[in-house]
Amino acid sequence: MKVNDRMGKKVLIIGAGPAGLAAADAASALGAEVRLCGGEPYAPYWRPRLTHWLSEPVPQEQLAIKKPEWYVQRGITLVTGKKAVRVDAAGKRVYWADGSDEAYDSLVLAAGSEPNMPQIPGAEQALALRTFDDAVRLREAALKAGRAVVVGGGLLGLETAWELNAAGVPATLVERNRWLMPRQLDSAGGRYLQAKLEARGIVFSIGRDPATLGELYRGACVVLAVGVRANLSFLEGSGIVTGKAVTVDALMRTSAPDVYACGDVAEFMGRCWGLISLAQEQGKTAGANAAGGSSVYTETPPSPVLKTGDVSVFSVGDIAGGEGVTAHREETDAGYKCLMIKGGVLAGAILIGDTKAGMKLKKAVAEKRKVEGDNLQNIIASL
Ligand code: FAD
Repeated sequence: MKVNDRMGKKVLIIGAGPAGLAAADAASALGAEVRLCGGEPYAPYWRPRLTHWLSEPVPQEQLAIKKPEWYVQRGITLVTGKKAVRVDAAGKRVYWADGSDEAYDSLVLAAGSEPNMPQIPGAEQALALRTFDDAVRLREAALKAGRAVVVGGGLLGLETAWELNAAGVPATLVERNRWLMPRQLDSAGGRYLQAKLEARGIVFSIGRDPATLGELYRGACVVLAVGVRANLSFLEGSGIVTGKAVTVDALMRTSAPDVYACGDVAEFMGRCWGLISLAQEQGKTAGANAAGGSSVYTETPPSPVLKTGDVSVFSVGDIAGGEGVTAHREETDAGYKCLMIKGGVLAGAILIGDTKAGMKLKKAVAEKRKVEGDNLQNIIASL
C-alpha cells in the first residue's frame, strides 16, 4: 500500500519508544494513517543498550531500532522532538509544547516513564539513566569524578555499576534491602550474586539506608536507579483514569473513547512491569485496536535477564516464597538454581550462572506445569 492510498483512521501516537513503535507498526499494517510523535530528538532506539554504551560508546544512530527507510516504506510519519503537553479527550485533540495542536481519530499513549529522583542528603546532584542524553551526561560526569556510587540494587543499578567499572570508574553499589535484585531473587540468590560480582570488582553497601551515606557520595558521581514512574503530567485535566499509570483493559483501552495506552505508561491489572518485551506486546495490541482491528493482550510471565559480563541471571514468575511454597535450591561454585513450587505447580524459578534452562522454565511457569519429586535436577529434566 502506498502512503497516499491510506484511507484508514488517523492514529496519533504520543511517545516514540518501543511501545509506540510497535503500535505504529500494527496500526499501519491495518492501513491507518499513523503519526508517531516523540519528545526526544531521536528515532526510537534500544534503551536497554544504554548501560553498555557507558563503557563502549557508539554513535547514537547505531542504537536505532529501525532504519529511516522503514518508516517511509510503512507510511509512518515519525516526528521527533515533539512533546505533548495536553490531551483533550472529549474534543479528540492533542496540544504540543511547540504551540501547535492536532486532531485524531484514535490516540495511543506510549509516553513511557521517567526515573524516580528522591532527595537524598549529600546526593543532591545525582544523575539517572533513562535517555541517550542521560547516558552522555553520566559517562562524562563519571569519568570526571573518577569514582561512582550507584543507589539501587535492581537490574538497572547493577548493570550501571558493572559498566561504569568496565569504563574504568570504580563503582560502589548501595542497596537498602538486605539482598540484591529483591524483585527477581530470593535472599540466597541475591547473596550468591553479590559474591560473584564482588569477586569481579564491584563494592557493595547492602542493607543501608541511602539517606545516611552522605560521606560516601562526596566527590563521587552518584547515580540513582531506584525505580521509575509513568509520564502522566500531560494527561492532567484529560479525565483519563490513572492509578500508578494509565489504567487499561486487555484491549489496551483507557477510560476515554478511542484512547489506548501501552508500555511503561500503562497499568494492566494493577501492574506496570517496566520491561521492553511487555511494552512491545502491549503496543501491538494498542496499535491494532486503535486502527479498528481486534487484538487482545495476554500477559506472559516476564523473565528479566541481568547482563553483567560473564555473570548471567534469569528469573521468572513468583519467587517471593511464603506460605504453601516449597523452595528447591542448589548452590555450587558454577551456579545457583532455585525453583518455587506452590500447590504442586511450578510458580517461579531463578538461575544464576548457567541460564540455559531459562526458556524451558519460563514456558513451564506460563503453563502452570505440575511438577513432582524433590530433586531439583529431575524436576528441571522432567519439564
Ligand atoms: P519509553 O522507552 O520510555 O519511551 C517513551 C518515549 O516517550 C520516550 O522517548 C519519551 O521521551 C517520550 N515521551 C514522554 N513524554 C512525552 C510527551 N509528553 N510527548 C511526547 N513524547 C513523550 N527492559 C527490559 O525488559 N530489559 C532490559 O534489559 C532493560 N534494560 C534497560 C536499561 C536502561 C538503561 C533503561 C533506561 C531501561 C531498561 N529497560 C529494560 C526498560 C525498558 O527500556 C522499558 O520498559 C521500555 O523502554 C518501555 O518502553 P515504552 O515505549 O513504554 O517507553
